[in-house]
Amino acid sequence: MSNIVVAGGAGFIGSHLCKRLIEEKYTVICVDNLITGAESNISDLLKNPQFSFLNLDISKEDDFLGHFQDVDYIFHLASPASPNKKSERSYINYPIETMLANSAGTYNLLTLAKEKNAKFLFTSTSEVYGNPAVSPQPETYFGNVNPNGIRSVYDEAKRFGEAMTFGFHRKYGVDTRIVRIFNTYGPFMQKDDGRVVSTFINQALEGSALTIFGDGSQTRSFCYIDDMVEALMKALFTQNTDGEVINLGNPDERTITEIAQMVKKMVSTDSEIVHEDLPQDDPLKRKPDITKAKNLLGWEPKISLEEGLTKTIEYFRNAS
Ligand code: UDP
Repeated sequence: MSNIVVAGGAGFIGSHLCKRLIEEKYTVICVDNLITGAESNISDLLKNPQFSFLNLDISKEDDFLGHFQDVDYIFHLASPASPNKKSERSYINYPIETMLANSAGTYNLLTLAKEKNAKFLFTSTSEVYGNPAVSPQPETYFGNVNPNGIRSVYDEAKRFGEAMTFGFHRKYGVDTRIVRIFNTYGPFMQKDDGRVVSTFINQALEGSALTIFGDGSQTRSFCYIDDMVEALMKALFTQNTDGEVINLGNPDERTITEIAQMVKKMVSTDSEIVHEDLPQDDPLKRKPDITKAKNLLGWEPKISLEEGLTKTIEYFRNAS
């Protein structure tokens, strides 16, 4: 059976992906330095003989290749990803680590792919579109990103990672694909990660005020984790994806006010809603055009926001 490296495998999306790959009987080598991921996310997997965990920083290792034997596939998900500066885990608090994970880290993982003749997937982000001037955003849109604003350490790092991936693809013929992940949520998000869905749910469960940044008219489109994991596997394992860039997300676009109201209603809390300042460069809208994912991967999300929120609320209710 194939050997799969999951960089960032102890993070939210990475740990769900590792679990699914193990269920499908792959051998998984999870690489993570645990700065924003958590060992508790993979504790069940550690007992599994098909699973191994390497606690290392993909951007720093001198002898990175020396840690690996046979590798067939590489998923690169290793990066802080939350923009909320109030969260200790936010990329705002790890600016240099974020830049290096997506630059030097991407270089190391692509070198591994080249040496082992492995297929490679880079997880980019909807953030490469910045505050988009077109909506929904197709893969062909170049984006509207502030190169030195507070979000730039993430946005520009991901843009650099995309360029690095194409560098290896064009110069060395490495079998690569880039996916741009839009907002994703579900069980095992970190409670203190500062993302809007986990924050609102935990505020509602605790009976404290839901904090809307700005007037709440900004939009996001939320994809449930199981749909995202399915898409990631299809993007790397489907034959015709070499050299492609593919948006992955759920096009069901909602305002942040709608999300707050839905969570309030579903948790049945009388928490109030308060408004705080909108952070700098917070995109006003975000909605993926997933035509390409549908055509190339035969994938589209199946889980509605109502169903996904119900499962996520249930998880946090039991976790707290
Ligand atoms: N947001 C909010 N309250 C919070 C956390 C986030 O209103 O407590 C807003 C945030 O300003 C943004 C949206 O929710 O407009 C999504 O934020 P998140 O951090 O989840 O991800 P982003 O899509 O900005 O990367």
